Amino acid sequence: MNLAILGATGSIGQSALNLAASFPDKIKITALTCAGNVESLARAIACHHPKLAAVMTSRGRRQLKTLLVDLGVKPLPKIICGPEAYLEVAAEAEADLVLLAIVGNAGLAPTMAAVERGRRVALANKESLVIGGELIMPLACKTGGQIIPVDSEHTAIFQILGGLKTPAIVRRLILTASGGPFRGWKKDELKKVTPIEALHHPCWNMGPKITCDSATMMNKGLELIEAHHLFNVSYDNLEVLIHPQSLVHALVEYIDGTMSAVMGPTDMRLAIAFALSHPDHWPLLPGPAGTGLTDLSSLDLPRIAFNQWRGHLTFEEPDYETFKALSLALAAGRSGGTAPAILTSSNEEAVHLFLTGAIGFTEITRLVQQTLETLPSTPLTSIDQILTVANEARRLTKSFSLALRC
Ligand code: NDP
Ligand code: MG
Repeated sequence: MNLAILGATGSIGQSALNLAASFPDKIKITALTCAGNVESLARAIACHHPKLAAVMTSRGRRQLKTLLVDLGVKPLPKIICGPEAYLEVAAEAEADLVLLAIVGNAGLAPTMAAVERGRRVALANKESLVIGGELIMPLACKTGGQIIPVDSEHTAIFQILGGLKTPAIVRRLILTASGGPFRGWKKDELKKVTPIEALHHPCWNMGPKITCDSATMMNKGLELIEAHHLFNVSYDNLEVLIHPQSLVHALVEYIDGTMSAVMGPTDMRLAIAFALSHPDHWPLLPGPAGTGLTDLSSLDLPRIAFNQWRGHLTFEEPDYETFKALSLALAAGRSGGTAPAILTSSNEEAVHLFLTGAIGFTEITRLVQQTLETLPSTPLTSIDQILTVANEARRLTKSFSLALRC
């Protein structure tokens, strides 16, 4: 399969490239993009020889070309740059599947571009569905574009349902959450949290933004909105359960009370591989003569009895009061329109401010709430409208953060 990866230098992108290196007979990389990390992109290009590459700026393009010449890469890929370049890769790259692994709202326009062309999209970028799901899903129906979720909870539900359609026999979709590094903490304890602590996830190794979102629980809130759009299911039929072991990724409850769950190791290569191989499963576990992912092992269930959890798989209700981001996201999702765009843009800005030391951890959610309370939500009409609202939400969040310092 020909694969184009947008966001190749990130956590998801690198996992996908690792898969490609392990399965050269199955995956051929045809296009790769990054924002500014041209050194990492150059290494990936030297390894996978795509025909097309995209970076954010013309300076980055010059740097990438120099790096590739130094690495002896021949022939050089076509290198394009600027925000339009990502749209070109998403819509035009020679690919059977486009993996959207850009982080944040910047993923929206490329996702729309790929869906508009009726492409098959492996969607890791949850923010695009959160802010633009009301536009993306109907567009996919119109163009025949196919969206395959990569988020671990959503790929689990997708595997159980066999697609994006939620049949009438399903009563509830349940997303599990590890609870992040501060599970069980109270608000006063959270006030002292540092970026280093917030970036230490107990179960998953991910990029900084999603790791911080997991610590505030905003990530799970965004995932509720993502699930609402992907599976066309009402918020009344969506639930979150804290499951610190992170072995069960999601559950589907049927109208007769029975449940199906997907369990698996906390390794995003499984979710990415499933998006690539669907409806097949590839032999990921180590096999003869060094085949498969040699550093992957299957879940050794009996051994779980001896680890810190002593054989227990636990499920509990989230603490909506302490981790208010979850309630804010749920309310924004229920409002619909531009409310989720205000939520995610404000959150993106607040997370950036926290990670750069400008605000405290609990101020992330406080600023998001203040921004949501200030900007009214309006019905969605276009990407341009979403991006305008997003900029305004970011600007307001920043100005509220300055007021915190006075
Ligand atoms: P990372 O921060 O690790 O990587 C982000 C990627 O996007 C990098 O390649 C980065 O390039 C690129 N990028 C950043 N900003 C822009 C921009 N404005 N325009 C174009 N490209 C840009 O993120 P993750 O891999 O952790 O996450 C990617 C997406 O997948 C997110 O939406 C996340 O929520 C979702 N996801 C991630 C999971 C994980 O395990 N990591 C799990 C489930 C979902 P550069 O390196 O040059 O900055
Ligand atoms: Mg997830």
